[in-house]
Amino acid sequence: MSNTSNTSKAGINTRLAHSGHDPRSFHGFVNPPVVHASTVLFPDSATMVSRNQKYTYGTYGTPTTDALNAAMNELEGSEGTIAVPSGLAAITVPFLGVLSAGDHVLVVDSVYGPTRNFCTGMLAGFGIETTYYDPSIGAGIESLMRPNTKLVHTEAPGSNTFEMQDIPAIAEVAHAHGALVSMDNTWATPLYFKPLDHGVDISIHAATKYPAGHSDILIGTVSANKQAWPAVWKAFTMLGVCASPDDSYMTLRGLRTMGVRLARHQESALAIARALEDMQGVARVLHPALESFPGHDLWKRDFCGSSGIFSIVLDVADASRHEAKAHAFLDALEIFGLGYSWGGYESLAVHANLSDRTVALPPREGPVIRLQIGLEDVEDLMPDIERGLAAAKSA
Ligand SMILES: *Cc1c(COP(=O)(O)O)cnc(C)c1O
Repeated sequence: MSNTSNTSKAGINTRLAHSGHDPRSFHGFVNPPVVHASTVLFPDSATMVSRNQKYTYGTYGTPTTDALNAAMNELEGSEGTIAVPSGLAAITVPFLGVLSAGDHVLVVDSVYGPTRNFCTGMLAGFGIETTYYDPSIGAGIESLMRPNTKLVHTEAPGSNTFEMQDIPAIAEVAHAHGALVSMDNTWATPLYFKPLDHGVDISIHAATKYPAGHSDILIGTVSANKQAWPAVWKAFTMLGVCASPDDSYMTLRGLRTMGVRLARHQESALAIARALEDMQGVARVLHPALESFPGHDLWKRDFCGSSGIFSIVLDVADASRHEAKAHAFLDALEIFGLGYSWGGYESLAVHANLSDRTVALPPREGPVIRLQIGLEDVEDLMPDIERGLAAAKSA
């Protein structure tokens, strides 16, 4: 099972274990080499002019980045994958590849915050207009399509509030109008959702999260189908945003264990989410795998798992007390760390800032606390959350 082509029909954990590197291609070593490279030598000047050799310069790829990208292609079912230095770059690079002056892009309102910053802070200056749409819009996105709409960007579940989207319905409309569809698939990873099988053209990952998995690496991947691959590759080579050899290697290493890690994240997060639904001080739990969640039917139809991050809405009627109560909750935590990002082995909590929303408005019942459930024991995590709830109550 050492050859990539032999594993493409295998189970997901088998593919995670073997994709991307054929040990026989490198002296039998189980793992690929970490190639540090700018310069690649050519055998003669004719080859140099024709550039007719597999590797020509470090920015365009090495055996290390190829191994990671091949593994992602196998997991995503994509034509090509690029590895870039952050999850944010995995959004900005394909946007710059697809969009040019005078174009229009539709972006879901529950989008990862820095994606919005990029659209308003940079794309607007390039003469590219952004419209934010309701995550529940589905086929209704038709009404927002313009002749110059070149890209529809989706993210499901949405950042912090976990709204689901009808991805196939949106993709059908977008394609009928000649637009490409991108999706930030960081939450589900290719294990629990395969965007390209549901009509998406460009699947984006903050591989910083579950693929890397240890809160020590920043990296992003962009996997595209045949249609979108030329634009993605063009932007990658023109912008020069290539992931480092060590980070690429470590991310491939992380993929090997991602299946078992995610299974544990999923199980613990769901157990905690269910327990919190019945707990005093919690108005609502925002987790797509809960039957009570508004987007649950879409999740059940399209996804085959849930990961370790969800939110709770604290029950705080007085809006002027939201921040104080949220801070009381956070400051009482002993195991959960207070910090950004997620997908590592350790549990984290953050008071979600939803002030940038224009359509998908924040819950009214109280402040939103996002919880990343790590690999610790649920028996230790639950009392920690209960400490937070008690502190919020008495604050
Ligand atoms: C974290 C995150 C990103 C950005 O990843 P970085 O590697 O931190 O730049 C993008 N999208 C989503 C949904 C994220 O959660």
